[in-house]
Amino acid sequence: MAGENRKKVLFIDRDGVIVKECQVDSYERIEYIPHVFEALREISRRTDYLLVMVSNQDGVGTPSFPYESYKGPAERIFSTLRGEGIVFDDVNIDFSLPEDNCPGRKPLTGMIERYRSDEYDMEHSFMIGDRVTDMMLARNMGCRGFLLAPGDTEIPDDLLPFIALRADSWCDIAAYLIDDGSLRHRTAEVRRKTKETDISLSVDLDGTGEGRIETGIGFFGHMLDQVVRHSRCDITGRAEGDLFVDEHHTVEDTALALGEAVLKALGDKRGIERYGYEIVMMDDTVATAAIDFSGRPEFIWDAEFTMETIGTFPSELVRHFFRSFSAAAQCNLYLSATRGGNSHHTAEALFKAFARAVRKAVRRIPGDTRIASTKGTL
Ligand SMILES: [Mg+2]
Repeated sequence: MAGENRKKVLFIDRDGVIVKECQVDSYERIEYIPHVFEALREISRRTDYLLVMVSNQDGVGTPSFPYESYKGPAERIFSTLRGEGIVFDDVNIDFSLPEDNCPGRKPLTGMIERYRSDEYDMEHSFMIGDRVTDMMLARNMGCRGFLLAPGDTEIPDDLLPFIALRADSWCDIAAYLIDDGSLRHRTAEVRRKTKETDISLSVDLDGTGEGRIETGIGFFGHMLDQVVRHSRCDITGRAEGDLFVDEHHTVEDTALALGEAVLKALGDKRGIERYGYEIVMMDDTVATAAIDFSGRPEFIWDAEFTMETIGTFPSELVRHFFRSFSAAAQCNLYLSATRGGNSHHTAEALFKAFARAVRKAVRRIPGDTRIASTKGTL
């Protein structure tokens, strides 16, 4: 068959790739790998790869893993994928145990040997797996692999030429296969350690508003929850500070770490909106936020609190949080609120307005890879 017409295949492992690695013998144990749906949906829609599952399910049919326990959850996984427009062309599952030395066990090619024919283009096909044996299978099939595994996974040198990409996210695999960098999530991790605080933060600007920053300060945690939810960034982290002194260092350094993480995740800021603004009303307060990820820190504040503390949290630290964020994220930040409102409402409206302004400013404009500045840099 002519090379042009040969079919390209994505061989896909199941456990550790589509669902989290464990013996999936009940519905409760089905836990999907983050972004698997959005990535496979885009791959299905925008490429012509055949999707072929290749999975070993050790000992299905034995007393420790009865077939009935396997079947329901396995079918549920496929029906959920189908509901998202992801349809496998072929499914190959081997139930043997390692000691059976079955030819269907990875990295042996027994289950998918038929794809090594003229009908299929192995040179441009890939195996997506989370283990070294998956990459060995790629080599044995004459294709290449995507290793979806933590960066410290050890790979024998002789396998490296057969690995197209080591990825810690499905989004990177989709971006590679579709050749569309906009599918890649903009993420960053920051560790900030001083004599006063120790902070770890991870940010995904293209998230859905999941995560939490633990700080040990009740009201501040409540405000950071608003930032996560309303920015729709996924943010997780922990701040351990010298709270025996007071809250100041923890609040300031959390803001600095968050600003640094956002700046890092934005990269060269190509294709982003750059500007964002929001007005949020909360009962007796209206807060306004405007932000410009200009590369220059500037902070304009026009708000007052009627109470010195909110619970036990010093009100003045709200201003300090935003000013510190502006410095670290190198953004212009304007915040204002109507005077005389309840201080809890004023603070919460400000945090929500800020978060929603950030959400607008970091948004990528589909298909636009330019930098939103006539200077050519931000
Ligand atoms: Mg696996």
